[in-house]
Amino acid sequence: MILIDGKKAAAELRAELKEEVAELKSKHNKVPGLTVILIGDLTPSQIYVRNKEKSANEVGLKSEVIKYPDSIEEKTVLEKIQELNSDETVSGILVQLPLPKHIDKQKVIEAIHPSKDVDGFHPMNVGNLSSGYESSIPCTPLGCYLLIKKIEPNLSGKKAVVVGRSNLNGKPMTQLLLKENCTVTITHSKTKDLKAECLEADIIVAAVGIPELVRGDWVKKDAIVIDVGINKTDNGIVGDVHFDEVSKNAKALTPVPGGVGPMTIACLLKNTIDCFKRSQI
Ligand code: NAD
Repeated sequence: MILIDGKKAAAELRAELKEEVAELKSKHNKVPGLTVILIGDLTPSQIYVRNKEKSANEVGLKSEVIKYPDSIEEKTVLEKIQELNSDETVSGILVQLPLPKHIDKQKVIEAIHPSKDVDGFHPMNVGNLSSGYESSIPCTPLGCYLLIKKIEPNLSGKKAVVVGRSNLNGKPMTQLLLKENCTVTITHSKTKDLKAECLEADIIVAAVGIPELVRGDWVKKDAIVIDVGINKTDNGIVGDVHFDEVSKNAKALTPVPGGVGPMTIACLLKNTIDCFKRSQI
């Protein structure tokens, strides 16, 4: 079985991006800029944002974090986003989720100009992705896609099952696999026989949030299995896939941690650079 090393893949991607930033700098005399807005003092969000800033600096991006207290008014955030939309030094804007209850998440997502939407959540980017046009692609599914392509460059005709239909993971993942000419089944909490669906799959992407949901006897021999889940349990962090069981059947499998997670931030940097490149045309 191939243990898909997300840490290594992410380090390779960051090294490529670092070179690209250096080339862009010598060509345009400026570097792509990422601005992250962090609202409140949720510890996981603070850790994510710190890691994003560190990685952005590592590849040579200009990075900025704007911090607001939990009590900040929605209007102030929307005004700041408008200011960033018209700031030429800002290539990408990310508002760290979740937001405090009094701030309308969808309003915030739609306030970010689609050309600076590095999370790929704006309806314009969602629509472009599903229409097969160029768009920002949500970072986690983009990372999964790049890992799958490393194992299997030609996905045409493969059967893929995506478990979970969130806007963040499942739905964009489905679009990416469709674009590669996979036959895709998207499953969710109301799916009648998830095991039977998974058993059909050459590729399984699990993005559910249920510890070790996907068992060894759900997986066809030689399937590629990508585990997006991050679940805190008494035994530490586990994915949505039962690692020990599935590793006996799968051709390739991502560990948790160290699989999809590291690719997510690297893909955020890629999206920022891609936004910059599109703005220079
Ligand atoms: P979500 O809660 O928004 O969506 C979960 C999906 O799973 C839903 O579509 C639901 O229908 C489906 N589901 C629930 N129970 C099911 C069942 N019994 N059978 C089949 N489907 C079922 O979750 P999300 O935001 O997509 O996140 C999923 C997991 O991925 C979480 O563990 C989250 O922590 C993790 N995550 C990881 C990364 C990363 O970088 N690795 C990024 C984002 C999220």
